[in-house]
Amino acid sequence: MALIVKKFGGSSVATPEKIYNIVNRVLRDKKEDDRIVVVVSAMGDTTDDLVCLAKQITSRPYGREMDRLLSTGEQITISLMSMAFMEKGQPAVSMTGAQAGIVSSDNYGKGRILDIDPSRVFAALDEGNIVVVAGFQGITDFGDITTLGRGGSDTTAVALAGAMKADVCEIFTDVEGVYSTDPRIAPNALKLPEITYGEMLEMARLGAGVMQPRAVEMGVRYGVPIHVRSTFSDNEGTIIREDYTMEENKRTVIGVADDTNVAKVSLIGVENKPGVAHTIFQSLADKNVDVDMIVQSIRTVEDQVTDIVFTITRDDVVLARDVIEELKKNLQMEDYSINESMAKVSIVVAGMLGQPGIAAQMFGIFSEEDINIEIISTSEISVACLIDEARVKDAIRAIHDNLVVNNRG
Ligand code: ADP
Ligand code: ASP
Ligand code: MG
Repeated sequence: MALIVKKFGGSSVATPEKIYNIVNRVLRDKKEDDRIVVVVSAMGDTTDDLVCLAKQITSRPYGREMDRLLSTGEQITISLMSMAFMEKGQPAVSMTGAQAGIVSSDNYGKGRILDIDPSRVFAALDEGNIVVVAGFQGITDFGDITTLGRGGSDTTAVALAGAMKADVCEIFTDVEGVYSTDPRIAPNALKLPEITYGEMLEMARLGAGVMQPRAVEMGVRYGVPIHVRSTFSDNEGTIIREDYTMEENKRTVIGVADDTNVAKVSLIGVENKPGVAHTIFQSLADKNVDVDMIVQSIRTVEDQVTDIVFTITRDDVVLARDVIEELKKNLQMEDYSINESMAKVSIVVAGMLGQPGIAAQMFGIFSEEDINIEIISTSEISVACLIDEARVKDAIRAIHDNLVVNNRG
């Protein structure tokens, strides 16, 4: 007897026919005693369509109303899938995030799971049901719905699997697993049989959209193995776990990731004195604007001013602009600009310490491709470069060909 959480993403549940295919597959694979929880996303592009709908009303982020709107997508899928199970003779019950006991923080659009009380899910399983849970949503202590950020159904699935002590969390998607880079950009991308939580977290954080970063964090927290695999084939996918089981699966450059949801903010001629950086970044943090890369340039000492350049996600541009306009009232600043056509391309490596030349090799490839690097940041296991969005695919293919396929790293 196993307890398994299976998550199906938007493209996997895009049509009633696809929903029936999943139902048939789940029932085919289910052993008699298995207890199955299915977590689903909104059908196809529903979430994007809902965002579009809201944009036709306003460009301002009305967080609470937006989250209520976006959470409806997943609720369509859970009802349809439960009906499909019952049509096949399998008792099933659908649950919203709130009904599944998922308590989330009140930062709209970026809710974090604070607590899970899966007792109602367990009770429904005990009655012989398959439980179909809406991904991407939780409920605050005040009873408001918050969504968990784009791709958040992954997080719902892994967190629920962890809280319920499931044997495995299977993430079914439209590719066969985690690859060395996005296989839609580089068709020669390699499928990785296994990857560690730490490496996957870095890949996801740097933009590999196959898993939401917070889902990987949940995997680490609960130690639940995650199997990323295809909805449309029976092939084994990628297992994300604590460490490699096979030495030969360890590689130097694990993958290449890109993130095009990036905006570069430049604050020009800011007063150069203690406390200024704190004021700027605290004001952004107060509005829940996540800042990623930060560079403070050194002008000549006589200037007494500095330029501060940082990156945020494009979703936060309206909020960030409001914060900066407010800051300008009290802070000396010559000018500012926001550029929404930048992107980040990164490599994830198995430990930079043993690879002193790897960053230089990456920059060499950018140079061969005549791609300008605007900002560089490094961590123990990654190097990230901010470049012009128009060159992202060229950059990914060249870096992947040289450092992963030809293993120059
Ligand atoms: P779902 O709707 O199932 O959640 P997503 O679109 O969120 O699916 O994630 C799957 C997509 O992630 C793939 O179609 C692929 O284009 C993209 N992707 C980006 N990087 C990677 C990677 N390293 N490995 C696999 N897929 C990746
Ligand atoms: N439907 C949400 C999105 O499109 C959540 C998810 O699919 O994971 O981002
Ligand atoms: Mg996804």
